[in-house]
Amino acid sequence: MSKNKVDYDCSKCPGYCCSYPRIVVTDRDIKRLAKHFGLSEEKAKTRFTRSYVFKSDKPKETIKERILKHRKDQIYATICQFFDQDLRRCTVYEARPDVCRQFPDGKKCGYYTFLKFERKHQGDQDFIPSA
Ligand code: SF4
Ligand code: SF4
Repeated sequence: MSKNKVDYDCSKCPGYCCSYPRIVVTDRDIKRLAKHFGLSEEKAKTRFTRSYVFKSDKPKETIKERILKHRKDQIYATICQFFDQDLRRCTVYEARPDVCRQFPDGKKCGYYTFLKFERKHQGDQDFIPSA
């Protein structure tokens, strides 16, 4: 195995990570998306993102964030609006937010390991377990 090789294959996954409801974007991400679509940053911000208030218990705090908008999906409840639901992949790959670039942050993706195990167990390479 080469040093950079990863142990997951997004082309065989229905895009679980893109179904995370809270995909946080920064001003830099909005700027990149605006440039990609030839829009003003303000327009990109309202069109693609929405404000969200995250409440954590430990430590007890409230954080105001901007997250990517979602839409309904046939596999997961909802998914990022930039996700192509037929091809099951990102449509803004070159302009995707930093958090999407960083995931899964290692050679393994926990969901893919789970998916591979379930598919082998079921004897069905297209099987999609409920997450
Ligand atoms: S959940 Fe893992 S394998 Fe699936 S698309 Fe995301 S990174 Fe790729
Ligand atoms: S921007 Fe692309 S990679 Fe990021 S959540 Fe949306 S579809 Fe997935």
